[in-house]
Amino acid sequence: MLYVIFGTLITLIFYLLKKNRELERRDRVKTEFFMNITHDMRNHLNIILNTSKLIGLNVDKSLNDRINALRKNSYGLLKLINNLIDMTKVENKFYSLNLENNNIVAVVEEIVQSVSDFIKDKGIDIIFDTEIEERIMAFDKEKIERIMLNLLSNGAKFTPSGGKIRVNIYEKNSEILISVKDNGVGIEKEKQKYIFERYKQVKEGAVSEYGGSGIGLSLVKSFIEMHDGQIILNSNYGSGSEFFISLPCKMINNEECRNINKFNVEMAMVEFSELMDKN
Ligand code: ADP
Repeated sequence: MLYVIFGTLITLIFYLLKKNRELERRDRVKTEFFMNITHDMRNHLNIILNTSKLIGLNVDKSLNDRINALRKNSYGLLKLINNLIDMTKVENKFYSLNLENNNIVAVVEEIVQSVSDFIKDKGIDIIFDTEIEERIMAFDKEKIERIMLNLLSNGAKFTPSGGKIRVNIYEKNSEILISVKDNGVGIEKEKQKYIFERYKQVKEGAVSEYGGSGIGLSLVKSFIEMHDGQIILNSNYGSGSEFFISLPCKMINNEECRNINKFNVEMAMVEFSELMDKN
């Protein structure tokens, strides 16, 4: 009797292990398929974008609006595809950080300056303030740009004209603290719990007009955690939100401090695409 039970258990374990391997294999195939498709989509889209830019240089003024609509909507699609690619990479742990010693204060300031026209065009005031002039530390510049652009574009999306966005930098106990604070619509208490979760787009009242995939903040959190940092949200529904980032000040040994390469303005166009006029 005991032999039968034991034999059945062993067979069951082997069956489950085999099933599990099969599921893992299918999952891998699906992920690879998804990655190939999204990369392909991005390549096609980049061709459309570059072509529309070229056409825009030569067309009659009457067609300018159409070309602009084409570009703005292409940037919106590019944002979605980039987020899908990054989300898949993060979920499958394909991401590694490209850490370089750099001046975090200058990098953040440069991003704020680069998007300040977009924000001011919406009638929102943008203020940058820092307690420290310079802090050289190791971080992935492109990821910090993505984080800041997401927080700033959200701030601009959910703050009405006449509002204010403040970006402040401090240093405390070997950590760099970056605050992005707006006095916009704010986020309801119960929704704050899952705001950093994937796929949980918070849709309600005034904010629902802005579509979006709800991937942005989950990526922001992942990128910050890859730096061993943290992000906290303080928000009062109706009076604004503050996203508070802390990053440990680490350095890479034997690494020269990088000069700041110019910020890629195209990245800002992609992130702010939802704020542009769609037609
Ligand atoms: P998406 O990728 O679609 O832009 P995010 O993950 O960046 O989505 O943001 C998710 C949701 O969180 C937004 O749709 C919005 O409802 C809410 N949210 C994010 N930032 C703010 C903010 N500063 N003020 C009010 N709501 C916000």
